[in-house]
Amino acid sequence: MKIVVLPGDGIGPETMAVAVDVLEAASRRFGLNLQFDHDIAGHDSLKKHGATVTPALLEKVKAADGLMLGPMATYDFKDEARGEINPSMYFRKKLDLHANIRPARTYPGMQARLGEFDLVVVRENTEGFYADRNVESGGSEMLITPDVVVSLRRITRQCCERIARTAFELAMTRSKHVTMVHKANVLKLGDGMFLEMCRRVAQEFPEVRVDDVIVDAMMAHVVRAPQRYDVVVTTNMFGDILSDLTAELSGSLGLGGSLNAGRDYAMGQAAHGSAPDIAGQNIANPISLILSGAMLLNWHGQKTGNAAFTQAAAAIEATIADTILAQECTRDVGGKLGTREAGAAFVTRLQVG
Ligand code: NAD
Repeated sequence: MKIVVLPGDGIGPETMAVAVDVLEAASRRFGLNLQFDHDIAGHDSLKKHGATVTPALLEKVKAADGLMLGPMATYDFKDEARGEINPSMYFRKKLDLHANIRPARTYPGMQARLGEFDLVVVRENTEGFYADRNVESGGSEMLITPDVVVSLRRITRQCCERIARTAFELAMTRSKHVTMVHKANVLKLGDGMFLEMCRRVAQEFPEVRVDDVIVDAMMAHVVRAPQRYDVVVTTNMFGDILSDLTAELSGSLGLGGSLNAGRDYAMGQAAHGSAPDIAGQNIANPISLILSGAMLLNWHGQKTGNAAFTQAAAAIEATIADTILAQECTRDVGGKLGTREAGAAFVTRLQVG
């Protein structure tokens, strides 16, 4: 399996270095023969190539079997004409990575303020309110007059149907419960269509229990009792917000793994951003990128039918739990180790098995 590695901005390089060490250790233990192709995106690429991402990089990524994308300083990238392209949007759109799968669970050994839980947010990834990706060309956010902005939201049957199918298929491998989160009480057409398509797909999965919650109430429900939920499916922006909340409720945003998956391609990417407030201090939690790497291996194993990859992913996930229980982790999740030291402890445990 050939994986392109783009470390990104802020805490990206320090956390990606650890994630690659872990993937290399998994490769040795499970005989995966992973090959890494290191390149640049974000600020480094803007400096070197005049653009945060380039068509040549996209071709390289397409020719590989997967991508590990570090967090990007997206907020800095304001003008596409000057090469300031949001790399996350670029790969999601160009590779049609329609599903953003973001698990959140508690771990033994960490204080679970809200009790134990284990859920997955399945977020539509290619349309919605995201002005930089919901149109073929240009942007869908417009300055009508100096004092008036219009931001358009795109919802399509096709995208609703495929994200619903991803959620129901995932639920069949878990506790067979899907919660549809929406705002159909106000966005009657767009979220109405989302709900309609989810319900239509639900008919193909009679074993799966289905309910729906309006997004504002969901914020209260999930903080009150996150253990009520198994798979939560929702549109793009609601899923972005909800999944940061559920990651933090599980203990830290630094635990939030994330896989962007399409029919033919997948990209591991932490749920969090470039965290400039802690960059370069060796305190960032590398687990979100490690977990994202495990999700990428699992996706590849399922796609190719190669069980060594799914076993490696399961071993990495088990090692995450073990390191947290042993407090061999960063401060945000109760440990005392730095990013590098937590990574070294992780690799040692994973090698031993
Ligand atoms: P952020 O997610 O970077 O950070 C939010 C908070 O969580 C900060 O206090 C940060 O220190 C903490 N945090 C994040 N990751 C952590 C980790 N691994 N370990 C410990 N603590 C962690 O959000 P922000 O500060 O609002 O955004 C910073 C930049 O990242 C912005 O430019 C934003 O646009 C961008 N961003 C990028 C992505 C992406 O590339 N996928 C996602 C979100 C935000």
